[in-house]
Formats: sequence, structure tokens, C-alpha cells
Amino acid sequence: MTTLQIEQFSCRTDNFGVLIHDTATGATASIDAPEENPILDVLEDRGWQLTDIFVTHHHADHVEANLALKKKFGVKITGPRDEADKIPGLDEAVGGGDRFRFQDYDVEVIATPGHTLGHICYYLPDAETAFTADTLFALGCGRIFEGTPAQMHQSLQKLAALPDDTVVYCGHEYTEANARFALTIDPGNQQLVQRATDVYGLRATGKPTLPTSIGLEKVTNPFLRTGDPQIRQLLEMEDECDEAVFAEIRRRKDSF
Ligand code: ZN
Ligand code: FE
Repeated sequence: MTTLQIEQFSCRTDNFGVLIHDTATGATASIDAPEENPILDVLEDRGWQLTDIFVTHHHADHVEANLALKKKFGVKITGPRDEADKIPGLDEAVGGGDRFRFQDYDVEVIATPGHTLGHICYYLPDAETAFTADTLFALGCGRIFEGTPAQMHQSLQKLAALPDDTVVYCGHEYTEANARFALTIDPGNQQLVQRATDVYGLRATGKPTLPTSIGLEKVTNPFLRTGDPQIRQLLEMEDECDEAVFAEIRRRKDSF
């Protein structure tokens, strides 16, 4: 039985805020700190006290409220060791393969370089939940700002190896644009076609398209489907390695 409550809300233009709250102890962690006021609103609405921030990477839209929230709540900030000097207020640096506790829950740190070189994801196996920020998106993946396509591909493969029913929270609501692009790469995929329709419907009524799951991404997200024969045929890359197929899909998305 899980004592974890997860609250997702939108902030900034297209970022998600996520709070995880342990009902047994009252501890509450924010996944990244994109914007102070929406986080404060949800805390007040729920009557929760913030105790932790788990940072995924150094971009401003993920750390901007770190210091303000630290000042207000005295929170402990955990974040990526490989970009520790860029994380405001960092208390505890962690890296790939590390495991720490959030109350009764194990938290596994997965190194996912690519979007930034130090990007990490957080996986809570007991809660069957992963927070993938700007590495894995619904029907997409993050832009490669600091790493290489091969690194990003490997990072996504680590996430794809999590159990299919893992619930996935991401850093941004990009799903509608991602769906339009995915259909240009994998137009014959009926599960993708159906999902795109669902996504357009949700967005038309202002609803979030997340969380998603590893299983759903594996059958519909072209960035996780580099081995698919139909995708390879469309790209005319039947005999190339997965990294090369991934790099080509990413290149096309960058100019879509
Ligand atoms: Zn980012
Ligand atoms: Fe971001």
C-alpha cells in the first residue's frame, strides 16, 4: 500500500510542477522548482509543508524557485553531482546508481545525460513512479543541448528498461506537438494514431496529457522505437545502428 500522494500542476508557460507527499510522515518533495507561486498555491491548498526539492538539471525553468523555497521552508535540496555548481542551494549531490530514502521510499538516481550533461531522473520503485524531467517526454524526448545523440539514446534506453507499468511524470507539456511529429515518423502505428487523437482531445479542453507510462511510450514514442522495421523503412535506414536512427529522428524533430 502506498502512502504517497502525487500532485501535478502546470507552471510557467508549459512546465509541470510535481509535488510528492508522504501521508504517513507529512514529508513533501517538489520535483524541480520551476516557479514559486504555483508551488506555494498547491502546498497551501493541500495543507502541506515542503521538506525537499529533487532537482533534475540546471536549467532555469527547473531551479528558479530553489532559493526562495529554501528560505521559506528550510528545504533540503538534492540534485545532480555532475552539475552541482549550477544548482542554487544544493545540499546533497547525487549521481547515477545512487539510492537514497524519501521517508519509507527508496529513490533511485538514474544518470540521463544528453539534454544537459548532468541530467538525472528519479525512480521510486515502491511507488512504481519515475520523474524524467527533460529527458523522456510523452511521445518525445528533450533537445540535446549539451550531450551527444548517442548519450541521449542510451539515457532513454535506461528509462525504457523500467517496468512497463511505471508511471512517468515529465518536465513539460509538449505532447501535442510531439504527437504531430511522431505521426510523420510512424504513420502506420495504430496505437500512435489513437493516442494522438486522445492527446488532441485533452489539449482542446485544456487538460494535461501526463502522466504517461513506460509501456505506453514504448509502443508509441518514436524515440524509443529506433528498432522498428516500419520506422527504419520510412527513414531508409534499414541497416543502420539504433544510435544513427535515433540521431536522424532527433535531427528531424529539431527542424519540424
Ligand atoms: Zn531543460
Ligand atoms: Fe525544461
